[in-house]
Amino acid sequence: MTFDFDLFTIGAGSGGVRASRLAASTGARVAVAEESRAGGTCVVRGCIPKKYMVYASEFGRSIDHLGAYGWRVGPAHYDHRSFLTAMHQEIDRLSGIYARNLRQSGAELFEERAVLEGPNQVRLVQSGRTFSARRILIAAGGRPSWPDGVGGREHVLTSDEMFHLHPLPERLVIFGGGYIGVEFAGIMSGFGVETTLVCRSERVLRGFDEDVRAHVHDELARKGVRVLTGVFADRIERRDDERLAHLTDGRVLVCDQVLMAAGREPYTHGLGLETAGVALDRHGAVVVDAYSRTNVESVFAVGDVTNRVNLTPVAIREGQAFAWSEFMNRPTVFDHELIPHAVFAQPPVGVVGLSEEEARRLHGEIDIYKTRFRPMKDMLTGDEERVLMKIVVRQHDDRVLGVHIVGPDAPEIIQAVAIAVKMGASKADFDRTCALHPSIAEELVTMKDKWSPPKAASAV
Ligand code: NDP
Repeated sequence: MTFDFDLFTIGAGSGGVRASRLAASTGARVAVAEESRAGGTCVVRGCIPKKYMVYASEFGRSIDHLGAYGWRVGPAHYDHRSFLTAMHQEIDRLSGIYARNLRQSGAELFEERAVLEGPNQVRLVQSGRTFSARRILIAAGGRPSWPDGVGGREHVLTSDEMFHLHPLPERLVIFGGGYIGVEFAGIMSGFGVETTLVCRSERVLRGFDEDVRAHVHDELARKGVRVLTGVFADRIERRDDERLAHLTDGRVLVCDQVLMAAGREPYTHGLGLETAGVALDRHGAVVVDAYSRTNVESVFAVGDVTNRVNLTPVAIREGQAFAWSEFMNRPTVFDHELIPHAVFAQPPVGVVGLSEEEARRLHGEIDIYKTRFRPMKDMLTGDEERVLMKIVVRQHDDRVLGVHIVGPDAPEIIQAVAIAVKMGASKADFDRTCALHPSIAEELVTMKDKWSPPKAASAV
């Protein structure tokens, strides 16, 4: 049987583009459909604009420190419009590069929504054209989810809109204490927005090491973010230009904007996957094996749509492994172990490996090394921000199971540390590595004393 294409990819985000370019480079006939803009969540409404917003808000905070280093500047004024213009110009440029690179690799890009009509059949929704394909790759990504039972969705922003928000609200309430909630709390409070973060757990960043959670939680509060825990949204109402956020405990927060950041979900609804017989799990994620194969022989899926580890570099590696396996005769499984990750809080978090709690559960006897200190730069500024560094070590063989950093440049540091941890480094390997002075990261190789829990106060 002949097909119009060897590969038809739905979604021109990180995973879809990597897979399609590699497949096209082998001479395969490749098409990609994208209903929004090339680059996907990461480039258009995620990692990249988020990091620019972090930079923009951090400048605001560092203005307070300039005087301590002798700089005298006039009254500062932040122009959000001009920042947004500059940021979106850069996003347009990057999205253009994604589209250009795809086309230069030989792939055809259709800028419209595509849905499946069968195991080897795709239809473009606007133009109505249909194509047959030997293989179909679902790389449609994810989208913000809405928590069950919370009313007033029409009055609430998601992270998608935050990158276009103008003017900035005076008062913002954020629901959700995960990656997005914590990152936007830092960004918005840095812009001078009166920010309240509401999360149902007792602390932000559930799933992270407890010391990291406590540290980030405290830093948020120290930066002026009001953090409400153990409570969530019941419904959001609009009153003229204001929003009334009704909480589950009966309190009402009056504000100008509300951001819902209660997780993301695979973007599979209406894609025709059921028509093609592709199995989904109860969260709507495409069920795949280690080779990103679905239960339908011709259909594959990579990235957030599979809800494995929802991070850009993971989608890229999954897309690459798919292309190697299916088009380059090089069967490859991407190893999802020890993926470094970061939360661009202020200060940011960098993590690789297991938390203390996970390590105790999985490995029993472990040793903990940890330190908290004020970074050198702040000795002059007087800022009370603290750095946290923590190493989790398996006792019986001294292997480093996890490294956790909260502090300036933590994501940059952890990327390098992840190489050592992935190689199976021991604590002794860390110790015999010479320090680089003066740096924050040097503490990683100078922590000598095992941490032991404070002894309970003895009875008098
Ligand atoms: P997260 O899963 O990180 O956090 C969701 C938050 O919403 C948690 O505080 C969670 O509470 C809460 N929540 C979820 N459901 C409900 C509910 N029904 N009622 C009340 N609270 C609820 O999701 P995000 O939206 O912040 O981010 C989505 C994903 O995007 C991340 O998991 C990550 O994969 C990716 N991402 C990565 C970034 C990075 O790498 N720096 C940045 C941004 C996003 P609880 O903890 O109690 O479950």
